[in-house]
Amino acid sequence: MKVLVINCGSSSLKFQLIDSESEQCIAKGLCERIGIDGSMITYSPAGGEKEKTVTPMPDHTEAIRLVLNALTNEKTGVVKNLEEIGAVGHRVVHGGEKFAESVIIDDDVIKEIEACSDLAPLHNPANLIGINACKKLMPNTPMVAVFDTAFHQTMPEKAYLYGLPYEYYEKYRVRRYGFHGTSHSYVSKRAAQVLGVPYESLKIIVCHLGNGASVSAVKNGKCVDTSMGLTPLEGLIMGTRSGDMDPAIMEYIAKKENLNMDQLINVLNKKSGVLGLSGNLSSDFRDIESGYFEGNPDAIRAMTTYCYHVAKYIGAYTAAMNGVDVICFTAGVGENGPLVRSLVCDYLGYLGITLDEELNNKRGEDIVITTPDSRTKVMTIPTNEELAIARETVALVK
Ligand code: AMP
Repeated sequence: MKVLVINCGSSSLKFQLIDSESEQCIAKGLCERIGIDGSMITYSPAGGEKEKTVTPMPDHTEAIRLVLNALTNEKTGVVKNLEEIGAVGHRVVHGGEKFAESVIIDDDVIKEIEACSDLAPLHNPANLIGINACKKLMPNTPMVAVFDTAFHQTMPEKAYLYGLPYEYYEKYRVRRYGFHGTSHSYVSKRAAQVLGVPYESLKIIVCHLGNGASVSAVKNGKCVDTSMGLTPLEGLIMGTRSGDMDPAIMEYIAKKENLNMDQLINVLNKKSGVLGLSGNLSSDFRDIESGYFEGNPDAIRAMTTYCYHVAKYIGAYTAAMNGVDVICFTAGVGENGPLVRSLVCDYLGYLGITLDEELNNKRGEDIVITTPDSRTKVMTIPTNEELAIARETVALVK
């Protein structure tokens, strides 16, 4: 079956068409600046030339129409007609407590996703726009929602509750949800598969280090803790997000800088993290890494603080699981950043970890990067959220 995977943001839309039998990507692309001047679609058929077309996209329905036109185009398309697409899998950011698994989308599910929008006001409405646009253009094609939060729904109460008045949980469902669940699930399962060990027998820590970053503890095949919280702002230091901090800092800075709550949250989401720590040098780890090697103190400060925080979470999750067998690095930085992996693992001698520097310099492979005598294994596993969404979609539609 050919599955169209859609990841819809407020002004962008990523897509991949995946053949579920071969698990290969047949075509992929991106619509940018939807609803803004200068909209552009990038389309890459597997083995073909990448095309960029600047064309008006007043809304997401038009963006999806352009995606479907590109996929069925006589010359560069990869399917003859839309009937060849057996299902659509949608990434949905927040499933609240309602969705612990992926679901086939119907009117009730759409209502439930709407109800969760309160918890993810920037993401869920955009995901719903994508769902509704596909419904309009492909009314007879089954669609599945795959939630970023679902994998983490197995966390025990002690991991998901905050030290706040319990009534906030009862009234407003204020709790840890966690994100990047599709990636944490895919990577932890893939690690067990590569090692040839039953998933249910392992204690795994997954470090998803991309522009957004989160860590999860997966014990005996179930997520028992994760670093992101009610929103994706909590946890690790990220590209531009602060991660954990003393909440009283907000009031202190608000008074000093004369900022209101929206402005403060904007600082924590967009101007903090590695970007803020490096004195606005960059939020991109390629720049931070080269600055680090050039001896730039701003880059060294950002890199050192970032890696220390990752190592602290690994320590915490080792305690939470009473041990760890495998630590996995994934996503843009985790997969491509040998320096980050090396600086993090420098803290982990107590776990009997020695990195094999040659293996640590490899990219894009599912491999163990520790020496054979290491007590705990460290792996790089390139994440593939689109494939994971396609698998979930096929499993429900078949
Ligand atoms: P993601 O959100 O998973 O797409 O990750 C994006 C981030 O990965 C970028 O902001 C970069 O900081 C980082 N990244 C990508 N390629 C490299 C690389 N070759 N070396 C270090 N970091 C990289």
